[in-house]
Amino acid sequence: MAIREILQIGHPLLASRASEIDINSIQSKEVQAWIEDMIDTMRDANGAGISANQIGIPHRMFVMEIADNPRYPYKPKMPLTVVINPEISFLSDKTFTSNEGCLSVPNMRGNVERHLEISVAYYDEKGLHQTQQVSGYSACTWQHEYDHLDGILFPHRVAERESFCSWDSFKNYQEANYAKHVEALVSKWGS
Ligand code: ZN
Repeated sequence: MAIREILQIGHPLLASRASEIDINSIQSKEVQAWIEDMIDTMRDANGAGISANQIGIPHRMFVMEIADNPRYPYKPKMPLTVVINPEISFLSDKTFTSNEGCLSVPNMRGNVERHLEISVAYYDEKGLHQTQQVSGYSACTWQHEYDHLDGILFPHRVAERESFCSWDSFKNYQEANYAKHVEALVSKWGS
């Protein structure tokens, strides 16, 4: 187990498509160590998720976990989830304006449109195939992490330029309204 360096925007690995993992290797020591490193690094940085390419591993894999998170106090909780070779499909056209930050984009945040109803298919850390429907705010976290695997970072999707700001400016000028926007969503969708 190790806390790894988190690559920053501009690193070529963050801008490239990550490659599939051979599902027969999921139980190998190497892949299990990558999973542990992702979890350790995410928790150390108080991230809500981290993808393998953010810590230098060019494969299609990410982890997510949301407990009491000081970076995102309004996010609904999500248990630790290990995702390998994911596929996402959109189940409706309903979208939500999600304000996002990223461990690879230091001190910046911005609004991104995300789908609210998605279906996900992936392999877990035991190599078992999982399918799940995810709705509400948690769907935004899935899409943020999935984007990393295709070399897309949240600033590439920010359309409302006035929303792109530092964490301090978000706290000072946007967080109160945004927390209400999220609260309304979570009370409607339950997640
Ligand atoms: Zn990110």
